[in-house]
Amino acid sequence: MTARFWAGLDIGGSKTLAVLCDERGEVVAEAVRPTPATEGGESILDIAAGLVRSFGVTPAGIGVGAAGVVDPNTGTVLATGDSFTGWAGTAINAGLSARLGVPARAENDVRAFLLGEAAGLRNALGVTLGTGVGGALLVDGRLLRGRGAGEIGHVGAFGDEPCSCGQRGHLEAYASGRSLSRRYAARTGASLTAQEIAAAAEAGDAVAAAVYEEAGRHLGSAVAQAGGLLGLDLAILGGSVVASWPLLEKAVLRALEAQPLLSGTPVRIRLSRLGSRAVALGAVRLVRE
Ligand SMILES: [Zn+2]
Repeated sequence: MTARFWAGLDIGGSKTLAVLCDERGEVVAEAVRPTPATEGGESILDIAAGLVRSFGVTPAGIGVGAAGVVDPNTGTVLATGDSFTGWAGTAINAGLSARLGVPARAENDVRAFLLGEAAGLRNALGVTLGTGVGGALLVDGRLLRGRGAGEIGHVGAFGDEPCSCGQRGHLEAYASGRSLSRRYAARTGASLTAQEIAAAAEAGDAVAAAVYEEAGRHLGSAVAQAGGLLGLDLAILGGSVVASWPLLEKAVLRALEAQPLLSGTPVRIRLSRLGSRAVALGAVRLVRE
């Protein structure tokens, strides 16, 4: 029997990562390039296809986790954040199949993240905290694929902070990297990245610690409510902001303990185990489904 391989792509706003997996799901090759996010969908697909070609073998299929709202049936990008130009409207499945001659299947990147991280599980909530806050739901072994399903970043009425969606008080308005920067600047006048604020908090800056504490409190509350509604007792967290987990942990756990599930136990938290490969590995699972 000829060996079969599967490719997984993570197309993000700054970089595109490709992995090649063997039949057992082990990564046998990996490649990364900057995403030409402002050069339009065809350029983005050219780069993605080039990464797969660089592996030198034809995979049996290509899975894609892509930033933005992606139609799970057709793999067409329906909407994107402001880091992309011309990505909305791109037919990922058809475009990659045409370039590489094998089936391709695309899904939103947070959903792919959860597919990767939750391998072997039947129920889990996935939350990514980066530039924005994304979410995905695995219920009874199935990823919920309705439009907007899992958008935990845009629930909650935590206050008056403006959210990227145009409404106010959502989780993302407190817990995204951008929001941490905005909240810190509002109180201090200083313009720092979320990472720099974390470093300041570790060095004893009380305002920096407070914006993380607030993010953690609202994150815990949103996770507790989502878990309670859907019967999910595990949340898997990923994204750049989670690198500062020690600054979030106490507040998250306190909020979860204050709002336990009906069973009496709080939702458990697990941090990403696959790191930068989570989306690409989830995409491999997607195309093998
Ligand atoms: Zn919102």
